Amino acid sequence: MYDTLKSVFGFHSFRPNQETIIRNILEKKDVFAVMSTGGGKSLCYQLPAKIMEGTTVVISPLISLMKDQVDAALENGIAAAFMNSSLNQQEMGAVNQELHNRELELLYIAPERFAMPSFLEELKSIPLSLFAVDEAHCISEWGHDFRPDYLSLSTLTKHFPNVPVAAFTATATPKVQDDIIDKIRLRSPFIVRASFNRHNLFYQVKTKREVGTQILEFLAEQRDKPGIIYRTTRDSVVKLSEFLTNNGVKALPYHAGLDGDVRRQNQEAFSKDKVNVIVATVAFGMGIDKSNVRFVIHADLPKNIEGYYQETGRAGRDGELASCLLFFARQDIPKIKYFIDQIPDDAERSIVMHKLNQMVKYASHYVCRRRQLLSYFGEDYTAGNCGSCDVCVDTVEKVDATIDAQIVMSAIMRTDQRFGINHIVDIVIGANTSRIRELNHDGIKTYGAGRDKDKNHWRFIVDELLAQEVIVQDGGQYPVLNLTAKGFNVLYGRETITALKREEVKKRGKALKGLQFEDYDEALFERLRLLRMKYAEEQQVPPYIIFSDKALHEMSTFYPVTATDMKKINGVGDVKLERYGNDFISAIKNYLDENPGISVSNREPSYYTVHKVLTKTVGGTVETTYKLFKQGLSIDEIAKSRNLTISTISGHIEALIRDGREIEMDRLLDAAKREEIEKLFEKLNTVNTSPIVEHFRGRVSYDEAKFVRAFMLRQAQT
Ligand code: ADP
Ligand code: ZN
Repeated sequence: MYDTLKSVFGFHSFRPNQETIIRNILEKKDVFAVMSTGGGKSLCYQLPAKIMEGTTVVISPLISLMKDQVDAALENGIAAAFMNSSLNQQEMGAVNQELHNRELELLYIAPERFAMPSFLEELKSIPLSLFAVDEAHCISEWGHDFRPDYLSLSTLTKHFPNVPVAAFTATATPKVQDDIIDKIRLRSPFIVRASFNRHNLFYQVKTKREVGTQILEFLAEQRDKPGIIYRTTRDSVVKLSEFLTNNGVKALPYHAGLDGDVRRQNQEAFSKDKVNVIVATVAFGMGIDKSNVRFVIHADLPKNIEGYYQETGRAGRDGELASCLLFFARQDIPKIKYFIDQIPDDAERSIVMHKLNQMVKYASHYVCRRRQLLSYFGEDYTAGNCGSCDVCVDTVEKVDATIDAQIVMSAIMRTDQRFGINHIVDIVIGANTSRIRELNHDGIKTYGAGRDKDKNHWRFIVDELLAQEVIVQDGGQYPVLNLTAKGFNVLYGRETITALKREEVKKRGKALKGLQFEDYDEALFERLRLLRMKYAEEQQVPPYIIFSDKALHEMSTFYPVTATDMKKINGVGDVKLERYGNDFISAIKNYLDENPGISVSNREPSYYTVHKVLTKTVGGTVETTYKLFKQGLSIDEIAKSRNLTISTISGHIEALIRDGREIEMDRLLDAAKREEIEKLFEKLNTVNTSPIVEHFRGRVSYDEAKFVRAFMLRQAQT
């Protein structure tokens, strides 16, 4: 198992649950597994396919993904093919032949093929290792994605009593789970319910104001990384996409109203890294298998947490850090309510409304976002500070709400914990209702204590206290408010209460700290990315199938220049090493030759040591440039006289500025332009040059931007 993991897939360790699932499959036991998107389900059947005798048949409804999956498997040296309606007769014949000749380790099929007797007969005539049912919730009518085609799978275990069956899904409530196991007739399966927690996703919520500009600011930090922006309406999708394009972002729109061809092209451009950003309605995402999505932005409030979780789940499937940003405005709530009000069925309407409320709570309370999401799916997050949401890393604007909390709780206590939310709020604001008069509640001490703030504010405080479990709602039809142990602590001044500020004050830069990647060499990464793009184009596959972003980050950190070192990189197995190893190694070698200043003190990649920060030192060659510059030579002249490229010399000058040497900035670019560039760096609050260069549309070069940046960084240090 471990050998195959390393040599075929190039991975160093299993993700949670992969190992036990695979062990059970190898022992020919049935398996039922719920694992979140990106959890690594494919490996659970691809690895056994490689080890076990016979062909593994994967049944999947997502025809659009089959080709990518097969391409990825072939890249790893697994004999794989697929059969679905997109193949012509000849292609189908060829796959059939391979299957018949027992040449296939892995075969992907669409479910309807399973209803064809001739196909079943063929399968019965050859040795099979495993049936893997992907997206297994599709067989359940309780699942949100029911497909009648899947019902033919109920005969699977009858036709193939000796072949193990493993069913996988990313979404299954206990009800759906029982239904799946029953419908596929799994034989006392080994059951895995993996945590829904996605460790590598950073969750944050920002107050929505001018969302276009806010998104531009966010993108400036992203250094052209790929991401998805969700909007609710087609119109807003188109407008935002145009706005971003006009501001130099490579973005395309996607919504169900676009012509089919256009939609396909836009999706393809995104998955092949031709554009960085796709602006889309929720129609986008099904059947997208891009693993290097670095951020998902929701520019409008989603309707419920299920949808939000599924959409954000498309970020960071490669396991690298990715960010989920929600722009929240209370003004978005009535728009969604309007649609909810149109639902005729009372029960259904109240469920949908309840789900919207949960979403609003997620955005507005001072509770770890991760904990809220997981608790929605019935999972207890006990780890305390998650370290990867805006609440936990403390970049939110917050206020002390202890006094307000005490007022509310005092009202609850003075009425003996016998009343519900509305009545308690009425007491606090000093409302003159008949109920208050009847019960003489206008006589208690807390009556009207919160008169200076409005009802919404107190409603919010009550919600906050509920979310933080300082108070609980108790009782059935007329729930009343009770204090918890924590509530008493707050009431008696032993603990304080913090709440999110409702109108967030701008605080820049800091919020993004949690997103920084470990230091890697960006210039090298860029170069390797282009090389990867070249291969991807040649082979007509998405770039991440050649190497994941994670693999390139590691290469840009450890600079592997031998095959042995290259093999230590995550995702580099034997086949990929043979196909691409040499080219990537030469690219890295060339890069190191051209940049002698890089001290690679830690060339030996070790996955357990902290990644070393690389430092560029001002060496002898830079000193030579300095001497010539001080003699009055221009960059061009220095480059000519030293027989070096202009960009090398510019790099030297940049290093000299950073080093605090006397470099007359006026000789490099004119003062007015410099001021403009400085202002823009400040405005965008970035240290990246690409947004600057893009903004000036050719008027400012990368070198000029880098000089100004070096100058500003130097100033900041002194
Ligand atoms: P799922 O089908 O569960 O959504 P995938 O099977 O597509 O997830 O896997 C998500 C990503 O994780 C892929 O890029 C895959 O190569 C990677 N991956 C899977 N298993 C491992 C592992 N053990 N180590 C490192 N990366 C892994
Ligand atoms: Zn958190």
